[in-house]
Amino acid sequence: MPSRTFDLDRAHVFHSWSAQAKITPIVLTDARGSRVWDEDGNEYLDFSSQLVYTNLGHAHPRIVQAIKDQADRLCTVAPQYANEHRSEAARLISARAPEGMSKVFFTNGGADANEHAIRMARLHTGRPKVLAAYRSYHGGTQTAINLTGDPRRWPSDTGSAGVVHFFGPFLYRSEFHAVTEEEECERALAHLRRTLEAEGPSTIAAIVLETIPGTAGIMIPPAGYLPGVRELCDRYGIVLVLDEVMAGFGRAGAWFALDHFGVRPDLITFAKGVNSGYVPLGGVILSNAVAETFAHQPYPGGLTYSGHPLATAAAVATLEAMAAEGTIENAARLGEDVLGPGLRRIAEDHPSVGDIRGIGVFWAVELVIDRNTREPMTSQGTLDVVAACKELGMLPFTNANRVHLVPPCNLSDADAATGLSILDKALSVSDRLTRG
Ligand code: PLP
Repeated sequence: MPSRTFDLDRAHVFHSWSAQAKITPIVLTDARGSRVWDEDGNEYLDFSSQLVYTNLGHAHPRIVQAIKDQADRLCTVAPQYANEHRSEAARLISARAPEGMSKVFFTNGGADANEHAIRMARLHTGRPKVLAAYRSYHGGTQTAINLTGDPRRWPSDTGSAGVVHFFGPFLYRSEFHAVTEEEECERALAHLRRTLEAEGPSTIAAIVLETIPGTAGIMIPPAGYLPGVRELCDRYGIVLVLDEVMAGFGRAGAWFALDHFGVRPDLITFAKGVNSGYVPLGGVILSNAVAETFAHQPYPGGLTYSGHPLATAAAVATLEAMAAEGTIENAARLGEDVLGPGLRRIAEDHPSVGDIRGIGVFWAVELVIDRNTREPMTSQGTLDVVAACKELGMLPFTNANRVHLVPPCNLSDADAATGLSILDKALSVSDRLTRG
């Protein structure tokens, strides 16, 4: 018997990325830690972190209290005023960024962070074009969807956004006929260099990359790739933008995923995990050089809710809780000792698993029909695995032929083991579809 909430949703709510008549959303009524409950009392382990953002899990008491306290004191402040938690959040966020990046521009989420990063890069360089990877997702607004490489761009792409796409490194499905990470790295950099040369380096304002592409497949770049991109940017005076919206704030077992690669971008975009998504928040961290461009001439952009006190109070509480609770270390340890080894064991037992890859609490299971040819699993086959996970009490994230395990950074070892064993059982569904 459908509930009133469900009926009203179907009558009045227009959902993201969906054919409206074809969806049956689960009605969630409660959430705590790594678990959520639906209106029928079914319990699920949330291995999706919703949309990969509840990095401290649900209903974390310290964040909830900070929001309540802020609401009692000063519920909203316009951006032209200074405010305690906005100031403190900016200090804490920039303190986690590489040296020489000390200013933060706050937005409402990840897409608008990328919109503003591109605007800043264009104004800073005086150049029009931007390069971005085909295997990427950067958000749903106009510039951000045009930066995005995956096919969700197509309906919004009129070819006029000033974005040129290229292939980043990904050895499992190499575009460069590479057989080692070193070859993949070298050839992907050569391809990027040739793209720059052919486009005209003096026309290019920015190269935008997810530090670790997330939705497009959690593809950890080879060690030398991002430093190589940095070098190309330096050679041609191009702004390097690293999108840490999904990979940042603990997801990759580090404050920022870029910490793994020893690279300093010019702009970092963030959102999601910065406050576990309890109140919408995103932003751009600026290098001092880019910030200087707007020191004496106005930055032509802004948002009514830039640095909203409820959102920034939640960010301060999140960052303090992460430091106090050893959340980053826990995420790194889970990846190394629990999720990585567990998934590798699962891969051995299931012919439909073509590849597993990840770091921290950021893992992709790539499903295939045939391990030798690497032919991707059908979308129905992948959706059936996801449905089996749900049936067994675990919510994964999914995209294309992949199941992503992206639980909160403070997941317990026991919950990690339960999630892995549910996936292990659910994969029997895709195993039946394999050949070869
Ligand atoms: N960039 C990356 C890497 C993302 O994963 C996302 C969202 O998933 C975005 C940008 C867009 O963020 P938002 O949905 O908050 O606009």
